[in-house]
Amino acid sequence: PYTGPLADDILRKRQQFLNPAVFHFFKNPLNLVEGKMQYLFDEKGRRYLDAYGGIATVSCGHCHPEVVDAIVNQTKRLQHSTILYLNPAIAEFAEALASKMPGDLKVVFFTNSGTEANELALMMARLYTGSHDVISIRNGYHGNAGATMAATAQSSYKFNVIQTGVHHAQNPDQYRGLFGSDGPMYARDVDEIITYGTSGRVAGFIAEAIQGVGGIMELAPGYLPAVYSSIRKAGGLCIADEVQSGFARTGSHFWGFEAHDVVPDIVTMAKGIGNGIPLGAVVTTPEIAEVLACRNYYNTYGGNPVCAVAGLAVLKVIEKEKLQQNAFNVGFYLKQRLSSLKDKYEIIGDVRGRGLLVGVEFVTDRHLKTPAKIETLGVMEQMKEMGVLIGKGGLLGNVFRITPPLCFTREDVGSFYHHISSSFHTYSSCFFKYSCRFSGRCDGLRVV
Ligand code: PMP
Repeated sequence: PYTGPLADDILRKRQQFLNPAVFHFFKNPLNLVEGKMQYLFDEKGRRYLDAYGGIATVSCGHCHPEVVDAIVNQTKRLQHSTILYLNPAIAEFAEALASKMPGDLKVVFFTNSGTEANELALMMARLYTGSHDVISIRNGYHGNAGATMAATAQSSYKFNVIQTGVHHAQNPDQYRGLFGSDGPMYARDVDEIITYGTSGRVAGFIAEAIQGVGGIMELAPGYLPAVYSSIRKAGGLCIADEVQSGFARTGSHFWGFEAHDVVPDIVTMAKGIGNGIPLGAVVTTPEIAEVLACRNYYNTYGGNPVCAVAGLAVLKVIEKEKLQQNAFNVGFYLKQRLSSLKDKYEIIGDVRGRGLLVGVEFVTDRHLKTPAKIETLGVMEQMKEMGVLIGKGGLLGNVFRITPPLCFTREDVGSFYHHISSSFHTYSSCFFKYSCRFSGRCDGLRVV
């Protein structure tokens, strides 16, 4: 049994000594002390079904034994910085990662995070093209340093620091967008930005295939091929941010961009690449990578021996345990169950996503699509009380983000469905309490 500090004590220290911007989803934040595949355990030994996976970071499962063994064995032998000496782990991992890429995407740069990966990708695009202007999509998230905060397009993640040279194109949002699912219509905005907002030449374009932080929004079909073509005509490079949609999570493909029939010039990744270990990467072509050949560019810890063996183990586990196929099958079933719930509860405005990257958007009015922010939080809190953890996101905070470890099973979906249904019931009955306390509204969870 766990004998360490308890939640109240940790919370007090956190409030006194840690970043005040850090937030918790729950009224009483959990002190998680152990993880095992799709389960997490709190200080009292209570088990939770993890349908969030640390925001899509846990690919193979919490403390997957093969990943843990790789980390422990390497730690016992050698942990070191990445630079100056040869190391077998980083070379083997780079080769394995390159083999998962289409086309000429064969050169890997390792980083410690998604932000660093995207900063490097944007810098390379600017160096390679000699242009500065970048186009990203509204509602996207790419990181919190200079260039990546500029590319990020949600006010809650943008601060008053210098963020130059990024234009934010209309989001090809299939739920709220003006053109529904007509991707090429949204792509016209990128042409207009190039024509009216730049010299006609751009450094590049960056996008997630499915916006994660933005509330699991899959780009409308036909959008990426049209945009990639416009960007390339303007001399720019196309960057795919696979931080959430990569590593088999979408089920139908290993990378999110593959569902859109495009081949990027640069691919960035983090989160799922390390099953929870701090690791990120940029993969590009030898020709683009060459821009750094005559410069001193290094990253002290990116791809260090311990993280590299972890990443290699993750790739092997995904293959061996057929996790992509599992994400496809279990994700399909999950979406089916959630869609059946949508037929029953008017508060569910949209069920979307791919594989085990699924979103459920809550609205108080299906026609007006009014965000049901308070209700989203309420149901989430209920589910936690019932032992199921999920995340939320979207600019307005009214979307459930369901991104479990890829070992999630059909039985887990059954249990998830059972708990979300009963939390709707419980929440319905205490809804008045919530609505009085928070918003004064009394509609929302009407059964249709
Ligand atoms: N890109 C995307 C799509 C992300 O979701 C995130 C993190 N939420 C990042 C980049 C930044 O990654 P990190 O937090 O590791 O810097």
